[in-house]
Amino acid sequence: MSDNQDASSDVTRRCIYCGRDKPVVEFTDEHIWPDALGGDCLPSTWRTNDVCGKCNNLAGLFVDGVFIKSFFGSAERWHGAHDYLTLSDVDRAVLPLAYLSRLTDVPLADNEVAEFWSGPCGAHVIHIRPTLDEATWSSYAGGDPRARKLAAGRAYMSFTSTNPFWITVAVNSFKAHFRRAKRYLVNSNVPPQWSADFSTLDPTDAMTARDLVVVKHVADASRRKQSVRSTIEMRVDQDGRLLAKIALGLGHNLLGKTFDDSPYAALLRQALWEKDFQKRQSLPVRGSGYLNGGNALAAIVPVLHWPGAWVLMLNIVKGSLVLTVVSPGKMSMGIVVTDDSQLVSELGPDVHDGIVWLTVPSIQESVGPLPQPTYIAHQIGAEPNDMLQALAVKRNRDVLPPC
Ligand SMILES: [Zn+2]
Repeated sequence: MSDNQDASSDVTRRCIYCGRDKPVVEFTDEHIWPDALGGDCLPSTWRTNDVCGKCNNLAGLFVDGVFIKSFFGSAERWHGAHDYLTLSDVDRAVLPLAYLSRLTDVPLADNEVAEFWSGPCGAHVIHIRPTLDEATWSSYAGGDPRARKLAAGRAYMSFTSTNPFWITVAVNSFKAHFRRAKRYLVNSNVPPQWSADFSTLDPTDAMTARDLVVVKHVADASRRKQSVRSTIEMRVDQDGRLLAKIALGLGHNLLGKTFDDSPYAALLRQALWEKDFQKRQSLPVRGSGYLNGGNALAAIVPVLHWPGAWVLMLNIVKGSLVLTVVSPGKMSMGIVVTDDSQLVSELGPDVHDGIVWLTVPSIQESVGPLPQPTYIAHQIGAEPNDMLQALAVKRNRDVLPPC
């Protein structure tokens, strides 16, 4: 290598997501598995510094974000979180809210929408917010997250439990989810310790009065056990780009430059940045998505599933390196990281035997890499593993009060 090349590689580096050479100063720390799903506590195999800041930002909003903030992502974050609540730490207990639907046939101002979220023990939240640039954000439960910072709207919570434990968890969760919105409690006086966290309901204010009609409409329907008229925003393709991104990151970390320069990595890059679902489907990237993964992987899901955890498994299937993901809600998805037999043969025996990681977002803890046979032996009760047992005891053993 000439001195010139040495000098240029000091100041530029190739981004593994866009494939472009960029100044070294533009590179940032990228978590291959999204932080909101427990990526920040996974070990170094799941991190890279070889992603440019632009790709990191774009992927956060349009790739990770689309999955995390989708109807399904919101449901997944809700699954299992309850298993890690404890009685002793109630003041810090936060559960994710689950997105239910967008309400229709309710009185609203022009350019406003009302969305229905469910909180701990079935607490209702109605969020009324402006619609801004909705087309781009139609797959995001709750709309454009950037617009929410400027116009966060009004959020109304109604408790369904009178138990002090559940009221505290509901309030904590409501505050954590709607940080910037004006927050109101509808069917309860605000206890003095939380008075700074809530606005005062003034039914004589015209906007508040109109909002309360929406809130009452949902409460009445719920009491009568009727459903409210609503639409659920969902797409079938919220995970395709995320899987392509993860495969690029893992392939790079495990196999290096030869992988980055391979034809299959070029296909993954195309899949990562292709916005059109039909066009992306036509690319020969192999995998199975969140909604159809269940069919191919149904038999192994009960063995791999861990309460509240994302289970990530790498192994060799028919000569290809494959990532399989099992979600807290027992859904599964998978993608071929590489189908190049030469590259696969360079992988160590640990990968050939299969590797498993678990990450539990509710307690910010992960376990792994573990050999796949070790994980399976633990799961079927053949041979308990110390690390997995230590993780298992973190699950709530308290008897929580009834709702
Ligand atoms: Zn890039």
